[in-house]
Amino acid sequence: MLKLDIRKLDNEGQMFTGKVQVDALELEITDPSVDLSFGDEVEYSLHVSSVSEGVLVAGSVSVDVNAECGRCLCKYTFKLELNDICHFSEEVKENDLDVSDDIREDILIALPSKLLCNEHCKGLCTNCGKNLNNDPCDCDNNTGDDFDKEVNPWGALDDLNV
Ligand SMILES: [Zn+2]
Ligand SMILES: [Zn+2]
Repeated sequence: MLKLDIRKLDNEGQMFTGKVQVDALELEITDPSVDLSFGDEVEYSLHVSSVSEGVLVAGSVSVDVNAECGRCLCKYTFKLELNDICHFSEEVKENDLDVSDDIREDILIALPSKLLCNEHCKGLCTNCGKNLNNDPCDCDNNTGDDFDKEVNPWGALDDLNV
């Protein structure tokens, strides 16, 4: 769990920074169709302040995500960064403010649905299956351009500038 000790919280609020194990946060992907896994730790930098009738938690968290590119199928890791965390908790009776559920949900919602190792990834040749990011293949009918047009609506215009 990610608990913040707010016993010493005063009017100025308090900053909490650190790392929490992904396991301790019970952060896991439950949807079997999503092929992602998390790194070991979630880094957090959260400011807790007293407001009327509760406390406000605001700040940022980040975690490494291991994914597979939807085009070239390579494995890659990216850092998921959330910089606009903001949660309000009503009257906290305990000494610790448990933000586990909020942070876990924030991270799961922020996961991208489209996974690309890089937005210009050329993918695999549909003919020979070669990874076109390394080298063009010998098939003349597939240069990977189709993929670029798919992500870039102006890709067709680039061709006119030749
Ligand atoms: Zn790729
Ligand atoms: Zn090919």
